[in-house]
Amino acid sequence: MTIDSAANAWPLKRRVTLIGALVNLVLAVAKVIGGILAQSQALIVDGVHSLSDLASDVLVLFAARYGSLDADHNHPYGHARIETLATLAVGVVLLAVAAGFLLDASSRLLLGQDMIVPGQLALWVALGSVLAKEAMFHATRRVARRTGSSLMLANAWHHRSDALSSLVVIVGVGGAMLGLIWFDALAAAIVALMLAWVAWKLLAGASLELVDTGLSRKELAVMAATIDGVAGVRGFQDLRTRLMGGQVLVDVQILVDGQITVAEADLVADQVRQALIEQLPGRADITIGIRPAGYNRAP
Ligand SMILES: [Zn+2]
Repeated sequence: MTIDSAANAWPLKRRVTLIGALVNLVLAVAKVIGGILAQSQALIVDGVHSLSDLASDVLVLFAARYGSLDADHNHPYGHARIETLATLAVGVVLLAVAAGFLLDASSRLLLGQDMIVPGQLALWVALGSVLAKEAMFHATRRVARRTGSSLMLANAWHHRSDALSSLVVIVGVGGAMLGLIWFDALAAAIVALMLAWVAWKLLAGASLELVDTGLSRKELAVMAATIDGVAGVRGFQDLRTRLMGGQVLVDVQILVDGQITVAEADLVADQVRQALIEQLPGRADITIGIRPAGYNRAP
C-alpha cells in the first residue's frame, strides 16, 4: 500500500466514522432519557458510555482535520499531539464517571436500597442499541477490510463491544422485570466496569505516547531488517522511535561506505526513507543521518 491509497481511503473512513458518530449521538440521547423515564440505572450508564463514544468519534474526526495540520513556525513537528492531549482528558473524565456509577451501583447492591423495577421502555431502547451497534460493527469491518486499516478494524470491534454492553442492560432490565430486582444494579455495575476499561485504555495509550514510549521490540526488529535490506546500507546506529497521534517518528543513523560521494549517500538515505514509509504507510515521519561505516564517534 502506498500513501496515495491511504489518502484515497479517507472519504470511506470518514463516512463510516460520521455515521458511527450519528448513531452514538442518537443512542446516547435515547438511553439517558429512556433510562431516566424507565428508571433503569444500567441504561443510563450505557447512555453515558455512548456519550463517551461520541466524544472519541469527534476526537478521531478532529484529529484527522486539525492533527494533520501542517507544521508551522512554533510546531515544527506538526499538531498531532493535540489529539493525544484531548484523548487523555476524555480518559480522565470517563474514568471518574465510571467510578461514580460503580460506587452508586455497588452501594445499591450492598445496601439493597433504591431498588426499582425498570419499565419496558428500557428494554426496547437497549434492544435498539444492540441492533444498531451490530449493524455498525459489520459496516465498519467492511471498510476496514477494503482499506486495510487496523484503526478501522479496532473501531469495528468497539461497536461490537458496545452491543455487548447493551446486551448486559437487556439481561439486567429483563431480570429485574422477572422479579430479580437487584439485576438492574448488577448490570449497571458491569456496564460501568466496561466503561472504566475503555477509559483505562484511552489513558494508558495517551500517557505512553506523552512520555515518548517507542515501538515494541518486534516492530523494531522488522524495521531493522527493512533498513539493513536497502542496497548500500552497511548497518545503522541509534534507531529511535516514538509515537505522535498515530504517527511514528523515526530517527536513525545509517552507515554507508565512507568513500562514496555525499550525493550517493543521500540517495541511499532516501531509499531507506522510502522503504520505511512503505512499511508504515501514511504514518511515518523519518529523520535519517549518514555516517561512514567503521566510524566510531566519541561518546
Ligand atoms: Zn463504546
